[in-house]
Amino acid sequence: MAPVTRIDAIRYARHERNASANFAAPVDDHDLPMPLDYFVWAIHREGHPPVIVDTGFGEQAAAARGRIITRPLVEGLRDAGIDHLSVEDVILTHLHYDHVGSLSLFPNAKFHVQDAELAFATSRRVCDQPTRAPFDAEPVAQLVRKLYADHVVFHDGDDEFAPGIALRVCPGHTAGLQVVCCETERGTVVLASDAAHLYANITRQLPFPIFVDEAEYREAQERALELAGGSLDHLIPGHDPLVLKCFPTKDDIARVDLPPHTPISETQ
Ligand SMILES: [Zn+2]
Ligand SMILES: [Zn+2]
Repeated sequence: MAPVTRIDAIRYARHERNASANFAAPVDDHDLPMPLDYFVWAIHREGHPPVIVDTGFGEQAAAARGRIITRPLVEGLRDAGIDHLSVEDVILTHLHYDHVGSLSLFPNAKFHVQDAELAFATSRRVCDQPTRAPFDAEPVAQLVRKLYADHVVFHDGDDEFAPGIALRVCPGHTAGLQVVCCETERGTVVLASDAAHLYANITRQLPFPIFVDEAEYREAQERALELAGGSLDHLIPGHDPLVLKCFPTKDDIARVDLPPHTPISETQ
């Protein structure tokens, strides 16, 4: 049996926008709707509590940024059969507001983050307003408090997390973004987070327009796809509504350990 027995992609929020907002260069379909979904992911293994990947954002951030919460995260976790109090490990792919907004839901967890990511989020680079915009101060401060309470585990580059779960750095969108590679029955499934917001960022070879280093971001997209064995069906982007559409889904929870019922290549 493969070490990872199930992966849930739990959708908790949505943002309506046009295609022009999703690419680092002009696109032909710029004025067509291309909304973003927001997810957290849960990795299940036999005999272990689920590992949560990212923690979403709450009502306050949603109101401040005009995002719509489709289901509070705690309810999404419950509907996936997960008790947030029993979670022991949370992997933070990066520290943008939509990935670290609910740290307090997991009082018993260790938070796994790249050295470079927390260093950046508390560095002089944050003095620059456009660079700072996708971060929120409060979750970064909460993470620093978790650090002082021995609840942060640092990773420096590629790392083996647990049998069947590996961390691979794909920087560019942020300084220390890590993707999560999971060994499932159907092979390696890569939770790419914002290494690729949308499948279209990869197929058009155009990254999302938020980055600290655009050239690195392009390489990161390529690396994420390589880690997925070159297969779009094995890469799970951070914000693509196609995840709910193409994978077996119930109650806005997609089983991405299973093969998609519609191959992703047919949607592009
Ligand atoms: Zn991001
Ligand atoms: Zn994001």
